[in-house]
Amino acid sequence: MCYTLNGDTMNEKAKKRIEELTVILNKASEEYYLEDNPTLTDAEYDRYMGELISLESRYPEYRSSNSPTLHVGAKIQDKFKKVTHKIPMLSLGNVFNEDEVRAFDERIQKEAHPQYVCELKIDGLAISLTYEKGLLVRGATRGDGTTGEDITENIRTIKSIPLVLNREIDIEVRGEVYLSKESFEKINREREKKGESLFQNCRNAASGSVRNLDSNITKKRDLDCIIYHLPNPLDYGITTHYEALNFMRELGFTTNYKVNKLVDNVTDIIDYIDEWTKKRSSLPYDIDGIVIKVNDIKTQNKLGYTVKVPKWATAYKFPAEEVSTRLIDILFTVGRTGKITPNAVLEPVRVAGSTISRATLHNEDNVIYKDIRIGDYVIIRKAGDVIPEVVKPIKERRTGEEKTFYMIDKCPICGTRIIRKEKEADYYCPNDLCPARKIENIIHYASRDAMNIDGMGESVIEDLYNEKFITDITDIYNINSYREELINLEGYGEKKIENLANAIENSKNNSLEKLLFGLGIRNVGAKTAKILARNYKNIDNLIATRADELTKKPDIGPIIATSIVDYFKNEENINIINKLKKLNVNMKYIDDSSYEEKEEFKGKTFVLTGTLTSITRDRASEIIENLGGKVSSSVSSKTSCVVVGDNPGSKYDRALALGIPIWQEEEFLEKIEY
Ligand code: NAD
Repeated sequence: MCYTLNGDTMNEKAKKRIEELTVILNKASEEYYLEDNPTLTDAEYDRYMGELISLESRYPEYRSSNSPTLHVGAKIQDKFKKVTHKIPMLSLGNVFNEDEVRAFDERIQKEAHPQYVCELKIDGLAISLTYEKGLLVRGATRGDGTTGEDITENIRTIKSIPLVLNREIDIEVRGEVYLSKESFEKINREREKKGESLFQNCRNAASGSVRNLDSNITKKRDLDCIIYHLPNPLDYGITTHYEALNFMRELGFTTNYKVNKLVDNVTDIIDYIDEWTKKRSSLPYDIDGIVIKVNDIKTQNKLGYTVKVPKWATAYKFPAEEVSTRLIDILFTVGRTGKITPNAVLEPVRVAGSTISRATLHNEDNVIYKDIRIGDYVIIRKAGDVIPEVVKPIKERRTGEEKTFYMIDKCPICGTRIIRKEKEADYYCPNDLCPARKIENIIHYASRDAMNIDGMGESVIEDLYNEKFITDITDIYNINSYREELINLEGYGEKKIENLANAIENSKNNSLEKLLFGLGIRNVGAKTAKILARNYKNIDNLIATRADELTKKPDIGPIIATSIVDYFKNEENINIINKLKKLNVNMKYIDDSSYEEKEEFKGKTFVLTGTLTSITRDRASEIIENLGGKVSSSVSSKTSCVVVGDNPGSKYDRALALGIPIWQEEEFLEKIEY
């Protein structure tokens, strides 16, 4: 027998933990499904569920009959009339990364070699709709999978759900009721005005709206519905899921036909996932993953079901954008304009695919308004490239030990008394010579949307500044003069320095707009920089222009114009520009639209892999697109060519295996005439 330190046997420990997790998850399900007010994030729920599944598989004897691994949703309340589902409404199994998607496919391949249908996993709630002779007679929630709530009256208020079908047919269909991001914002704005509690996300708002006892309220909520499942297709002579989707569309239902995709293999599934991971933020509604379903109904039936999920489908879940963690401390940073920002120091946590330990708290008012305290468990949100932010504290988890936040009154870097201008939320350090500002200027200059110097992130710049190798942006280009000393610094190997030097050299060829944005001229963002570059062609023309001329250009108002003129009036700034000129930093606009599409690129899909040494990835992708090609992140049978840099990874191996043409970096540069 195996003993742990506290004397409990492994078995006892497992039993205790299984019991604990069962209670936590069942409570969470009630809050989520019945009260539409979860206190755990979805990521936490999924993590606990993963732990429980793993423990129960090793210790099946401790699985209780009310384990959440055996049940769908939560037991329903008496608020609504009950509806029994003739065919149970199940949940879906989950996969969380590419390897797990492949493992799902491998499991299926053992039984059959099917096509799949890929669909967006809309973040709303599942409903069942029953029609008799083409007339809507019943709408029900999933409930616990066997018994749902009768929400027919509310369902009738949803415009995208037909009350009458195009055929007098008896049929049950299933789909997702959801709320668009726009309607969600609107509802919450109205609730805020009325002093009511806010919905946490589109899903909770949709669920709360459709499960409201007053159908007049549901009507006002502007809910929508997409249909994605026909429970008994064979009854209608339909043999594939894709056909079923078309059939339901013909009957008058809204399906997601523009984005549902029939695919032949797992590589295409991965491509679909990649595509929608990038495009999801542009959708008018929230999705939390991709659903992958075996297309052929006979194969579906052969694969069958567990008590909770179909074995012929799974849901790929996007990395969570909202997670919870503990806020250990609040630190203040000084930006390049002198702005002071409070930042949360967090217990490291994985969110949206990366580990974070800092998140912005924006300003004093925000921290006070949200009542965020040091020691709180907080919800963190990170979507796409956006800076992670603290959404709110989880007050239910307070112990009483949390410390109240106080704003500082002196700059944390130079000690100058900070000021807050009237009607502004932010404090500023008024000291122009504050070292923090200089570092932030350099960080901004090297950043992606500016000069895009790969490898020159915040910590590298802080190191170079602290070691006095650089004091302003021009020193970046003198890397060869401090190269020898840099190598003695911890974490700076030959290879890293070589890559950095190459990236610095490459950045000299950027088009003018990148430089203009990088200079950090007040009120000149990336978009304005592009307008200026396009209109003035080179920096000297811009320096020579007057404010009244500037305001004649598109989107340039008097405030921006004055900022630009003031910037170039400052002798120190002109000195920097002259130094950059001497260092051969390009000062001209490079017009990409002059590229003509090339036969070798037109309509073809390219994948870049490995480190490109003479060109940045972003630039290479831009040029490929200008020449008529497309850039994808994963290799599939549809890839036309793979461009290979140093140390290529698994994409290179896959390209070799699939016999896809490969261009080494040199060959690629020749083709793009770079
Ligand atoms: P699920 O959301 O993981 O997947 C099944 C559901 O996906 C279906 O019921 C349907 O509503 C939906 N769906 C959307 N688009 C679909 C499509 N195209 N085809 C098929 N189905 C589609 O499973 P679930 O059982 O509804 O919920 C479990 C999940 O809910 C958890 O993984 C967790 O993220 C969340 N949850 C969170 C808490 C919490 O406390 N935060 C509690 C319970 C559940």
